[in-house]
Amino acid sequence: MEGSPQNRLIFHIDVNSAFLSWECVYRLSQDPEALDLRTIASAVGGDASTRHGIVLAKSPLAKRCGVVTGEPLSQALRKCPDLVVVPSRFDFYIKCSRRMMKLLDEYTPDHEKFSIDETFLDMTGTIHLFGSPLNVANEIRERIKHELGFTVNIGIAPNKLLAKMASDFEKPDKCHTLFREEIPAKMWPLPIRELFFVGGAAQKKMENLGLHTIGQLAACDLDLLKAHLGEKYAVLIHQYANGIDDSPVAERDPINKAYGNSITLSQDISDYNSACQVLLSLCETVGARLRADHVLCSNVCVELRDWEFRTRSHQMALSEPTDSTSELYQYSCQLLKEFWDRTPLRLMGVRAGKISDEEFQQMSLFDDPKARKKKEFEKAVDSIRSRYGVDIIKRASFLQKDAVADHAASKKKHLNRNEDINP
Ligand SMILES: [Mg+2]
Repeated sequence: MEGSPQNRLIFHIDVNSAFLSWECVYRLSQDPEALDLRTIASAVGGDASTRHGIVLAKSPLAKRCGVVTGEPLSQALRKCPDLVVVPSRFDFYIKCSRRMMKLLDEYTPDHEKFSIDETFLDMTGTIHLFGSPLNVANEIRERIKHELGFTVNIGIAPNKLLAKMASDFEKPDKCHTLFREEIPAKMWPLPIRELFFVGGAAQKKMENLGLHTIGQLAACDLDLLKAHLGEKYAVLIHQYANGIDDSPVAERDPINKAYGNSITLSQDISDYNSACQVLLSLCETVGARLRADHVLCSNVCVELRDWEFRTRSHQMALSEPTDSTSELYQYSCQLLKEFWDRTPLRLMGVRAGKISDEEFQQMSLFDDPKARKKKEFEKAVDSIRSRYGVDIIKRASFLQKDAVADHAASKKKHLNRNEDINP
């Protein structure tokens, strides 16, 4: 049943501008005449009036202005002054994500949920039940569009890396293949920046070696790369450039297990203020998921992966179990402060661990009126927000924005470079 690595068939499904698409699905479900944000320069994330937050998703027009996912809102607004920014609605996005995963279950049980809007399917064992790979991918794409109201790109390839690269080709609403024999024509002419896991810092180092395309990287001497990029990263990135990736489709990333969320950043992050804003958006999703499932966590873990592929994590046990976004955020910032050495980051994650059922906490919760009130407040915000949207009520966690600013200010005292100047 298990195919050899050459014979595997992997689909990578990627929702086009996920949060923005889901936001549109929500708005159109409330008002069929609502402006479709996908047709203008728009972004989801943060608060436009205070210019606080990071871009979590952007429309094609915003992308054309140079707006990238993960960048501070203030920077995006400088690039694109007409940008329409809407706050996020995580509780609804989680529903959309779950609906999609359920639909995909019909095609194979072998999933790897890579993020809230991306998933790998190992179709090796089930493709014969459905038809040719491209036809099946197109069927999935059409079904998601018509049954769920948003579009996806699907990459079809013999491994996860190539499937992920393929789904990133022309967007939106497209299926692309990247079979081995297509690598020279479809992947090698692309700039190295397009290769999965190449960030700004690594890109610069490679360009200094005269490497500008993925093909040049693929043909480069591995020892030369090792000398400049470090052994582990050099081997990985050289294999990627050659289309090699034998990793199985499985829940392998611990940060995505249980109640975790992570984001691969489109640009390296090296300042504390931006990093905290990313943490806030991650805590928003994790908190909303905990509350949706009526569970609490007693452990918070922050995971960082830098541009050299080094992963480090730092965690803490909580004295009181929680499902509060603002508490998760506060602990995450504290953890970050304790262990991050400012190495430019490619991935950030937050995981809520030691999960317990809310019921078991009720007793102690009722002993503490303050905790109970706080919880009731967050619940009320969640429910009002899921009904009417965040335009109606400001999320509790955004009240933390001063904390973000304070962190940045106090941190600046210890640094001799000005972190407010963005590249
Ligand atoms: Mg996506």
